[in-house]
Amino acid sequence: MSDSRIPAFFRKSIADRLETLVERGFIDPEDVVLLQQTAGILPVEVADKMAENVISVFGLPLAVAPNFLVNGRDYVVPMVIEEPSVVAGVSGAARIMRHGGGFVANADQPILTGQIQLVDVTDPDKTIEVLQAAAEELLQEANELQPNLQKRGGGARSIEFLKHRLADERWTVMAHIAVDTRDAMGANLVNAICEGIAPKIAELSGDKAGLCILSNLADKSLVTSTVTLPLSSLRVAGFSAESVRDGIVMANELAMADRYRAATHNKGIMNGVDAVAIATGNDWRAIEASAHAWACRDGKYRPLTNWTVTPSGDLRGELTMPLKVGIVGGSLQTNPGARVGLKIAAAASATELAMLMCSVGLAQNFAALRALVTSGIQKGHMSLHARSVASLAGAPPEIFDQVVRRLIDSGEVKDWKAAELIADIRKAQKPAGKKRAGIDDYASGTAAGKVILLGEHAVVYGRHALAMPIKDAMTAHCRKARGPIVLRIPGWDLTQSFDQQDDSVTGAASILQLLLVQLKVSAENIVMEVESRLPVAQGLGASAALAASMTRALSEYFSLNLADDEVNQLTFQCEKLAHGDPSGIDNTVAVYGQPLLFRKGKEPVQESIDLQRAPPLVIACSGKRGMTRGQVAGVRRRHEKNPSLYEAVFDNIDRLSLAGLKALVGGDYDALGAQMNVCHGLLNAIEVSTPELEAMVSLAREHGAIGAKLTGAGGGGSIVALCPGVQDAVSSALRDSGYQTIQPN
Ligand code: NAD
Repeated sequence: MSDSRIPAFFRKSIADRLETLVERGFIDPEDVVLLQQTAGILPVEVADKMAENVISVFGLPLAVAPNFLVNGRDYVVPMVIEEPSVVAGVSGAARIMRHGGGFVANADQPILTGQIQLVDVTDPDKTIEVLQAAAEELLQEANELQPNLQKRGGGARSIEFLKHRLADERWTVMAHIAVDTRDAMGANLVNAICEGIAPKIAELSGDKAGLCILSNLADKSLVTSTVTLPLSSLRVAGFSAESVRDGIVMANELAMADRYRAATHNKGIMNGVDAVAIATGNDWRAIEASAHAWACRDGKYRPLTNWTVTPSGDLRGELTMPLKVGIVGGSLQTNPGARVGLKIAAAASATELAMLMCSVGLAQNFAALRALVTSGIQKGHMSLHARSVASLAGAPPEIFDQVVRRLIDSGEVKDWKAAELIADIRKAQKPAGKKRAGIDDYASGTAAGKVILLGEHAVVYGRHALAMPIKDAMTAHCRKARGPIVLRIPGWDLTQSFDQQDDSVTGAASILQLLLVQLKVSAENIVMEVESRLPVAQGLGASAALAASMTRALSEYFSLNLADDEVNQLTFQCEKLAHGDPSGIDNTVAVYGQPLLFRKGKEPVQESIDLQRAPPLVIACSGKRGMTRGQVAGVRRRHEKNPSLYEAVFDNIDRLSLAGLKALVGGDYDALGAQMNVCHGLLNAIEVSTPELEAMVSLAREHGAIGAKLTGAGGGGSIVALCPGVQDAVSSALRDSGYQTIQPN
């Protein structure tokens, strides 16, 4: 690297500065092209006047957070931030907070303190006595220095004095002058006052003036925002309102006790506050310094918020912090971006802007804590929570996992629910009759559902598809009973009975009958009861999961010891019976329960995918049956009419599936989300979407899903959405609109 000493760099034009940096190897020539693209709202010529040695303008996303109701007024909040989820988090929180009437905020007068130091003071008490006596005179002189500020209703309000003994034992006295700076942040105004009255203070006390500058600890400009959230507004899919409320209160208490937690807690608050500060041209370093100094005002670093339960059981949040901001002065006037931000915030005074910022900080804190105590748990910790509830309820090892899954699906992770589920599952399993030689009286088998991330329909035409399992989607319990063969699927409201020789059997029972024939077992007197997490005909591989789980149960019941490959073969036979021309993907995922890249045809591909972590998916079912056979036939007809058009679509879907595999394995959810969105568009183009699926996809995207698409054959059925950080928000929104959601893992 070259010498970084560049004489007279500041005198160079922007082009010359860039050239110099290229010459010295500090930036690449390609970077110059990028830096010269000043498409942002801050022209580089203006930026050049704002700071020194400017070479370009650095971009950050400017977003807005809607839904804010503060002191009865509606706001759309401008936010400049690069961190994902913050804007979505505050917007969602503000939406919920409207249920309790929004935020109630108040602010102190906009006072900024200036400090004038006296050094080498021999008798600090005497100095303070003298200066105290001259307080009025000093305030008058300060105000004469800023006549316009007085005209606007501001000005110096009070002055007080403190003494400190420094490390070398010398005394120093500080004059603290409190100035109401009205709508300006006031740093320059107060600095000017400090420097202006310092000679007078020195003269009166006979001491020497030292540092003269504002203090960024703006503890006379405290702002408080409070919010009351009705208990009913706190419910999150999978969690009761009480557990969310109590979790947030506990998280706050933890931050009170633990400064490591408090630092992260307050950082979240500043995510909201700083983003508004930057968007409105305010000095966020000043705000940060003030907030953290205030947070440890009594010597211990604490959270800035306080969350409590009201006597009526609701959740009350309060954020108090110093916020000395401006809507005039500083860089606000010069930066067109800040002007736009201020216009969007539409605050009539600096204190109104401060109250809005404080409310955004509180909203962000709520969003973060809510996510921590819910989806944070959901993604990894949620199952731990459900496991501990299942364990406390006494779930035996053989049904433990089932209880956990069904607890999570039910949205009621509670001990009473666990007890209910244990009883249900035991009832379904109760063996009747004695054990026969070689044949157990009871056996069970489990299989996965599938959700296609990319590639449906195209897969029928020899292209790749990418599918994820829905773990433990179905469990079949086979037991001995009296009478004919019975198939019962309580979740589908289905009971069918038949004799093995009966050739008029239809529906799900025909799958069981086919299996009995293929397995060459005689099965009078069995009852097959299937627990299903999957609704029927929703594009989630329910028929394959049904066949695979029943095959496994029969294999165990008749001691056949079928290998997975054999189970897969049989399941594929059943899929042919159910769907005509299945791709083979459903049975493979049902049996192996692994993410899968799949292609059928001459060079078939069946690659199981190893993932470090499951992608944050939300699956939602429309409830409208999407019959695969009909949809596949419809696409075939249209393909025959327009082969080249349809082939081009399938090629595009193929490319998306392959790129999606890369994104999935690399955890690049932005890319995967975009691929899912485009794939949805292509599926719409081949006419397998419906208005309802479109509405569900839009709803998921509105609530923060970065990718959303129909999944499976379409024409009804389900959608799948990729929701990093917003799984809760998206599933709640879909559930609130009446759709069933399913936990994929
Ligand atoms: P400023 O110097 O632009 O002063 C505000 C101006 O606005 C004054 O000229 C005032 O007369 C005028 N004004 C018009 N209408 C007004 C109204 N209604 N109320 C109040 N004043 C009104 O800005 P400032 O606010 O004194 O200083 C802010 C800038 O100082 C920020 O950019 C900050 O980054 C910078 N700064 C900060 C620090 C620090 O925080 N430690 C130190 C130095 C400078």
